[in-house]
Amino acid sequence: MKTVLLSDTEADLEQAAAWIQKGEVVGMPTETVYGLAADACNPEAVKKVFVAKGRPADNPLIVHISEMEQLPLLVEFVPDLAYRLAERFWPGPLTMILPKKACIPAITSGGLDTVGIRMPSHPIARRLITLSGTAIAAPSGNRSGYPSPTTAAHMLHDLNGRITAIIDGGACQVGVESTVICFESATSIRILRPGYITKEDLEQVAKTVILDSAILHEIQAGQMVRSPGMKYQHYSPKANVILVEGSYAAYCSYISQHVTPHSYALVFDGEEAGLPMPYFTYGKNSAEQAKQLFDCLRRCDEEGAVTVYVRAPERNGIGLAVYNRLIRAAGFEVIQL
Ligand code: AMP
Ligand code: MG
Repeated sequence: MKTVLLSDTEADLEQAAAWIQKGEVVGMPTETVYGLAADACNPEAVKKVFVAKGRPADNPLIVHISEMEQLPLLVEFVPDLAYRLAERFWPGPLTMILPKKACIPAITSGGLDTVGIRMPSHPIARRLITLSGTAIAAPSGNRSGYPSPTTAAHMLHDLNGRITAIIDGGACQVGVESTVICFESATSIRILRPGYITKEDLEQVAKTVILDSAILHEIQAGQMVRSPGMKYQHYSPKANVILVEGSYAAYCSYISQHVTPHSYALVFDGEEAGLPMPYFTYGKNSAEQAKQLFDCLRRCDEEGAVTVYVRAPERNGIGLAVYNRLIRAAGFEVIQL
């Protein structure tokens, strides 16, 4: 199969929508990361998504909508709190887990009786959903386990020849995947995966916001997992990622003692002084780090890095999303200084 590169013209989006209606899969930009889009209600199409990515069958896909009217058609029940969150954060990078209706096939929900729903804000994603006339299942458009794609080039690198087309919409603005939440009661929610919409943002609407323990800790054998994606090795480049937590001086001193052939540093902007090895910088604040992290991890691989010592980001606000991706990229190998 030859993967066609499409632009954001109306004609190209109509072509992409026609392919989705026919059960093909197409890469699409969203404000978070590039997604691998298929008709959420067509099990044959969704199967192609799992095959193209090499994704484990029990890791459910997020279903994307462009209009509020689609929501009650896909889920059994919409709590009042979900409507209030949607009013505040949709369209945008928030995914809500709700009880699914039968029109969502089991393959889409990874066998669960719930489904994650999101209304993206990216104009290309919204137009594609509308033109397709259906809800669109879309996981991140990387090979399973690898860092998510934030450009069409990343996605082409991973899936060229495995999918029908990719729509090039430039670089993603947010850079990390959506915040995923589930509902605990009429007034409380639980964050299963942190994202650009932070705990503090959500607290403006929900009385209680719980951070799931899987966000910062490795899932232990036999432990109940609320979000299957948290079980798997994730976001990992080929290079071995080591997360180093401490002051910049302590970081420099540590990596100076661990210089090996093809080791790289990944630090904040403005911290380049005195590094004993080649480096990349990934931004000066959490929002910039979210936007640049996956591209930097991929560039380390392009350079042939064997080990990447990453200066740990903050753990609050958007930083929690960046930290969550990095501890998984590092396989929970964290050096505390
Ligand atoms: P990705 O598609 O790569 O952005 O990953 C989707 C994430 O959402 C994974 O971590 C899934 O486990 C999570 N997710 C999707 N649907 C559900 C669901 N019904 N219940 C719990 N987590 C979900
Ligand atoms: Mg993913």
